[in-house]
Amino acid sequence: MTKNAEKTIGHLIDGQLVNDTARTQPVYNPATGQVSGQVALASQATVEQAIASAEKAYPAWRDTPPLKRARVMSRLKTLLEQNADKIVAMITAEHGKVLPDAHGELQRGIENVEYASYAPELLKGQHSRNVGPGIDSWSEFQALGVCAGITPFNFPAMVPLWMWPMAVACGNTFVLKPSERDPSSALYLAQLALEAGLPPGVLNVVNGDKEAVDTLLRDERVKAVSFVGSTPIAEYIYAEGCKHGKRVQALGGAKNHAVVMPDADIANAVNAMMGAAYGSCGERCMAVPLIVCVGDEVAEQMIAGLKTEIAKMKVGPGTDGGNDMGPLITQAHFEKVKGYVDQGVKEGAKLLVDGRDLKVPGHEGGYFLGPCLFDDVKPGMVIYKEEIFGPVLGIVRVKTLAEAMQLINAHEYGNGTCIFTRDGEAARHFSDHILVGMVGVNVPLPVPVAYHSFGGWKRSLFGDLHAYGPDAVRFYTKRKTITQRWPSAGVREGAVFSFPSNR
Ligand code: NAD
Repeated sequence: MTKNAEKTIGHLIDGQLVNDTARTQPVYNPATGQVSGQVALASQATVEQAIASAEKAYPAWRDTPPLKRARVMSRLKTLLEQNADKIVAMITAEHGKVLPDAHGELQRGIENVEYASYAPELLKGQHSRNVGPGIDSWSEFQALGVCAGITPFNFPAMVPLWMWPMAVACGNTFVLKPSERDPSSALYLAQLALEAGLPPGVLNVVNGDKEAVDTLLRDERVKAVSFVGSTPIAEYIYAEGCKHGKRVQALGGAKNHAVVMPDADIANAVNAMMGAAYGSCGERCMAVPLIVCVGDEVAEQMIAGLKTEIAKMKVGPGTDGGNDMGPLITQAHFEKVKGYVDQGVKEGAKLLVDGRDLKVPGHEGGYFLGPCLFDDVKPGMVIYKEEIFGPVLGIVRVKTLAEAMQLINAHEYGNGTCIFTRDGEAARHFSDHILVGMVGVNVPLPVPVAYHSFGGWKRSLFGDLHAYGPDAVRFYTKRKTITQRWPSAGVREGAVFSFPSNR
């Protein structure tokens, strides 16, 4: 392991950058394979320091008028826009995605900050006058206290922005644990939040691994945990967090199917699938790695169109404006994805396009895998069942829409799905009966906008409330209902032993 002294990525605690470098891990530039820095892996003591800072900042921040909290979010939105190029460059340097894709991610994140700036409106309670004689009652939404977020590598800026802007706008304080594989942008976003006027301690960032996560899950000062990542870890976070009395939402992995009907506009479906399967090198939880073609004719047409488009794809470093697809995140992930392609061949799926031998001149050390396309993928195969998280697309052939829906509904995951058709009745039937949380009709990546909420079904989400949007307001607050009477002077009631009602 090369110890690269150029850059250490530490923590942000109580408004100060802290370098606890007793344990570190290299961060790589996936386009070159070179180490670009060392990320500090927080010890339990460092995480406890961050929690203590968040707890200290909580009372004053909770009592800050929501409008003033919201104004910080408005200023942050401006700062994010002004510094967009710098943030996007950080994302691409550590994640590898192409710059326009990184811009898209950041813009979606900014929209969450914009939504958080509506906090005064979103936090309005519900009031009822005269619920009984002379009695008024209202519900209000109070902050929880210290909240924590644990985020994945694939959206290093956007997913943190799904969490802490809304949490702090609701009056909570926060400790974020970003992915250790591409930690720089999340740390920088928190520094911009300070610049926007967020008081020190309201948002803390600790980098690290399981030790940091477990400290957040077990410390009783942390009241709620939001997690986004793979399903095995999501399941662990949910169980461990609940065991320690916390509110938990844990979003997990996915295996999204697109259904293409015989009446679909095939050229549109092909273009949509190219971006959905190979955009961000397939490293999106809403990526579409499986196309279920209804009828062999649809399958043949889709394959012909996909092969033509794949031949035009440019794969190379994300910093080169002309490229469509960058590298995978790490060497280990590259090996894993390549292993799935080998496995698919062994299982008998037909590998129509093989990206395993791709070489990018001048970037021989990068983790580049070319686009791969399989035909005849069958439900029993590992490449059908498991999340690959790489540029590997499989065609599944079925005879009817009912058969396609049966497959999707039987799958372990239920994050996103879409249907391509011109038949409104089929689309409506599909949306009504499919067991998936986010559905697109002729829309390949139905990622909800910031003022809706994001979440899958089945083993793609553990917990009840989805991420961001209106569900985030509920997740980061607890309801309190107050019932009040001011009796007129001199009016005295006797003791009442029956249950109070309007009978
Ligand atoms: P991951 O589960 O490996 O890591 C996510 C976070 O958990 C990281 O911060 C990591 O440090 C931490 N972590 C990892 N192992 C841990 C352990 N044993 N104990 C405690 N914490 C641990 O996920 P990833 O590889 O960074 O991200 C890709 C995955 O995230 C994919 O499965 C993808 O589908 C999923 N994802 C889901 C959504 C969604 O909204 N459902 C969005 C983005 C990504």
